[in-house]
Amino acid sequence: MKYKRILLKLSGESLMGEQSYGIDNARVLQYAEEIKAIQTLGVEVAIVVGGGNIFRGLSAEKSGMDRAQADYMGMLATVINSMALQNALETLGVYTRLLSAIKMEQICEPYVRRRAMRHLEKGRVVIFGAGTGNPYFTTDSAAALRAIEIKADVVLKGTRVDGIYTADPEKDLNATKFDNLSFDEVYDRELNVMDMTAFTLCDENNLPIIVFDMNKPGNLMKLMQGDAIGTLVK
Ligand code: UDP
Repeated sequence: MKYKRILLKLSGESLMGEQSYGIDNARVLQYAEEIKAIQTLGVEVAIVVGGGNIFRGLSAEKSGMDRAQADYMGMLATVINSMALQNALETLGVYTRLLSAIKMEQICEPYVRRRAMRHLEKGRVVIFGAGTGNPYFTTDSAAALRAIEIKADVVLKGTRVDGIYTADPEKDLNATKFDNLSFDEVYDRELNVMDMTAFTLCDENNLPIIVFDMNKPGNLMKLMQGDAIGTLVK
């Protein structure tokens, strides 16, 4: 396997499948199967799940809510998604631990860095819930932060497009895909990979990012086998 320890970031929207809201359990189960396949081969897997399929702080602020309050609600949404993914993984017999940045003792462990690393060493899939635990951040920032903390080899950003393009491929038919980019090229071309806080964190800590299509079965495994799919930023 090309990577020993990975941090996989899944957006909340990716869990919706074809629905317009909420969680498509079949889609979650499909992701769980992909994750199990690489975990069985010895890859240590940590996951950060977003919450955009349920609640987004920024959108709620636009409709008049207090931003910090709305962001905490968004963080709770990520815990709901994390629990769905945990459930799917456990259905497949994978040992998991859900660690939350906001204490919720009845349903998950509090986030403790050393404990997260111990779980990974023992072969458990670790899911980080509640983002960074702070309003005004995103789960991309949580993914970058946790990946650095646990010394992951790479952040894998699973999306519905197969990499980073010159323009949004869902809007611009002439958009072309990059196979490799440097951090500087992303700044220069003003490409949208992650939000800037998350992206800068990866840059400053030399943490490579791979953007890839998580919906294509087998892609996660291919990445672990060293196939050049998606776009690598390093
Ligand atoms: N959020 C937050 N702090 C964090 C992570 C998330 O306040 O560290 C809130 C924020 O309101 C955000 C929501 O949780 O809109 C859902 O997360 P995000 O938008 O990153 O989810 P995704 O777009 O990946 O589904």
